[in-house]
Amino acid sequence: MDTFMDMTVTCADPEAALSQAADRIGALEAAFSVTDPDSDISRINDNAGTAVTVGEDTAAVIAAALQYGQESGGALDITVNPVLREWGFTTGTYRVPEPERIGQLLENVDYRRITLSGDTVQIPEQMRMDLGALAKGYTGDRILEIFRSHGAQSALVNLGGNVQTLGTKPDGSLWTVGICDPFDPAATLGFVRVQDCAVITSGNYERYFEEDGQRYWHILDPADGCPADNGFVSVTIIGESGLMCDALSTALFVEGPEQGCEHWRSREDFEMIGVTDDGRVLVTEGAADIFVNESTMPVEVVYREDS
Ligand code: ADP
Ligand code: MG
Repeated sequence: MDTFMDMTVTCADPEAALSQAADRIGALEAAFSVTDPDSDISRINDNAGTAVTVGEDTAAVIAAALQYGQESGGALDITVNPVLREWGFTTGTYRVPEPERIGQLLENVDYRRITLSGDTVQIPEQMRMDLGALAKGYTGDRILEIFRSHGAQSALVNLGGNVQTLGTKPDGSLWTVGICDPFDPAATLGFVRVQDCAVITSGNYERYFEEDGQRYWHILDPADGCPADNGFVSVTIIGESGLMCDALSTALFVEGPEQGCEHWRSREDFEMIGVTDDGRVLVTEGAADIFVNESTMPVEVVYREDS
């Protein structure tokens, strides 16, 4: 999955639990990879226009992607891949594409044209999908499931900055998860104290390039095919499901503060810590008492009802 992964588990046979988790990661990578020609995703992409049978995991992640695509009004769109490719985010050979080229590519970006029926997936010709926005969250969920099956009551998984926790620390205290300051990623914005949940961040500092003094980052707004610049520079989502938190961190990053807060109000199962491009930390009601701000930026609590 093109990142470092770190797993800590406390149970009777941690070696067995970790090795089973590593095998599961390998299998998921083999299903989701956009570069491995035998993966489910490559088979869907290479056979665009025809129905392809995929594994249970792939079908589950695509189903979630369609759901979060819909509830974010298309902010999350797993078919944005050809545009990402044009910007060079898939290879590291970066360039700013011509607007006409982006326009052409956007004609084939639309998650609503994906057909998913049971374990069968079909996309229109010219369309390409990738699960980069949700795959790590789903993987984290599966790893914690394995740890639970080994009787673990305490575990922490860090998949490239996506942190997912099981239970508390072995001594019974809460896990402390740091959040990067998007304006200075080597520094911390603050931390949250949690148990049994995922803490997943999407930020404009994670992968980017600079040209003519402009920064271009790897999360695109499917509305215009350019790096999403709607007011957030980072969004951290806290909730039980890693899949949901990963999908929503990308979605709310694209949606921006106003729409993102509305999206939060429409659900009951997650909290958000978002940093705006003008240097404010928006913290939803339910996260206000678990978040400790260590930055000099002001915190604004977001309430369910406008008061
Ligand atoms: P990261 O994987 O860097 O932690 P995200 O979970 O936010 O961050 O996922 C970003 C990845 O999702 C990108 O690398 C790209 O593959 C893909 N992507 C970028 N923009 C979108 C989008 N609007 N909808 C769906 N996927 C996207
Ligand atoms: Mg994500």
